[in-house]
Amino acid sequence: MQPDSVTPDQTCPCQSGKSFTDCCSALIQGATHAATAEALMRSRYTAFCVGAVDYLIDTTAAEKRHPEDHALIAEQTQITNWTGLSILATEAGTENDEKGVVEFEAHFEAPEGGGVLHERSRFRKDKGRWYYVDGEVELLSD
Ligand SMILES: [Zn+2]
Repeated sequence: MQPDSVTPDQTCPCQSGKSFTDCCSALIQGATHAATAEALMRSRYTAFCVGAVDYLIDTTAAEKRHPEDHALIAEQTQITNWTGLSILATEAGTENDEKGVVEFEAHFEAPEGGGVLHERSRFRKDKGRWYYVDGEVELLSD
């Protein structure tokens, strides 16, 4: 899978300030795994930006996956244009933790109008890899 909307030396969509190659690209392509919950969260945001649907499913906790996810996420990534990410807070989620929380705001544009997704996401480590479990989501208008 090759994300098509970002070139390797372009700044990563997660706004880390690093190039896509040095940031989320290696995670999304499976070359390496996220060391922290925040790194996984950033790479999932980037995956939404570039339409990396399989990566989004692979990094969701097994019990939270549903057969219809692929179609739903694919549709969502096509109609939603993610325009910015701010990490507001993190709890645990380091290389030495088994659980973590990342609170963030993601700005988006969509056909029915833009807004801000505010979420407190919960992450869990299974066999040394981080997974997204669920989150408390709030939609705010721009
Ligand atoms: Zn990134």
